[in-house]
Amino acid sequence: MTVRYEHSDEPRLRFVVLTLFPDLIRDAFSWGMTGRAMADGLLSLDTVNIRDYPVNAYGSIDDEPYGGGAGMLMMCEPVRKAYEEGLRRLERKSPRVIYMDPGGERLTEEKALELSKEEGFIILCGHYEGIDERVLLEVATDRISIGDYVLTGGELPALVLMDAVSRLVPGVLHNEESAMDESFGHGLLEYPQYTRPRQWHGMEVPQELLSGDHKKVSQYREREARRRTQAVRPDLYEKYLRDRGIW
Ligand code: SAM
Repeated sequence: MTVRYEHSDEPRLRFVVLTLFPDLIRDAFSWGMTGRAMADGLLSLDTVNIRDYPVNAYGSIDDEPYGGGAGMLMMCEPVRKAYEEGLRRLERKSPRVIYMDPGGERLTEEKALELSKEEGFIILCGHYEGIDERVLLEVATDRISIGDYVLTGGELPALVLMDAVSRLVPGVLHNEESAMDESFGHGLLEYPQYTRPRQWHGMEVPQELLSGDHKKVSQYREREARRRTQAVRPDLYEKYLRDRGIW
């Protein structure tokens, strides 16, 4: 099913998700900024249900792994057919096909920015113990992990990826600066932020932010971003310094 809107021109970025749970993907993506970006015609989402391509009359799409072991594996043929349907829907020659994979390359802001420049791509969500390697070798161009932990399925990882990529598509956030200002935008974590009231539970908003002096505000933010990154993510801070030739 395609979630598109009558008044939209060609979307800037198209997602096609191959999944056993299309409703989960569509529902979650239809809220907030991503929902609005679809309404504005900037993004489009299409889902293909892998269950629509069973290997027999019983509706099987998975089987036991050769060599034994716990759990079931998604079979080649249902995934291959869902992929072919995905290609038809995307209407793009040789698109990237991203398998959400705990053993894949770690998702970073840099990777999200790279993917936000594509016109569209296919995302493949695994389930059970995963997917037969042969069909992955045939269709997947990328394998992406959202972190060093294992979830029950690829739908939440796919949504994480789609959200991270979508907000970097020009026009989605309306305020383009905010994407760069946030954590990782400049290689540092974001500085602490405050809003009204000026005093809450005995805690004051830092004086520099109340000064109305842009220089003081930016010095404060730079200092706090560095301090926070150094304390919480020394690995990131080291990279930040190295990238600037300071290390
Ligand atoms: N047996 C697999 C392994 O050890 O790598 C784990 C399979 S996992 C239970 C089922 C599916 O969830 C995977 O095929 C993948 O699509 C998705 N998944 C789970 N954790 C993930 C992660 N951290 N990043 C991306 N996808 C993940």
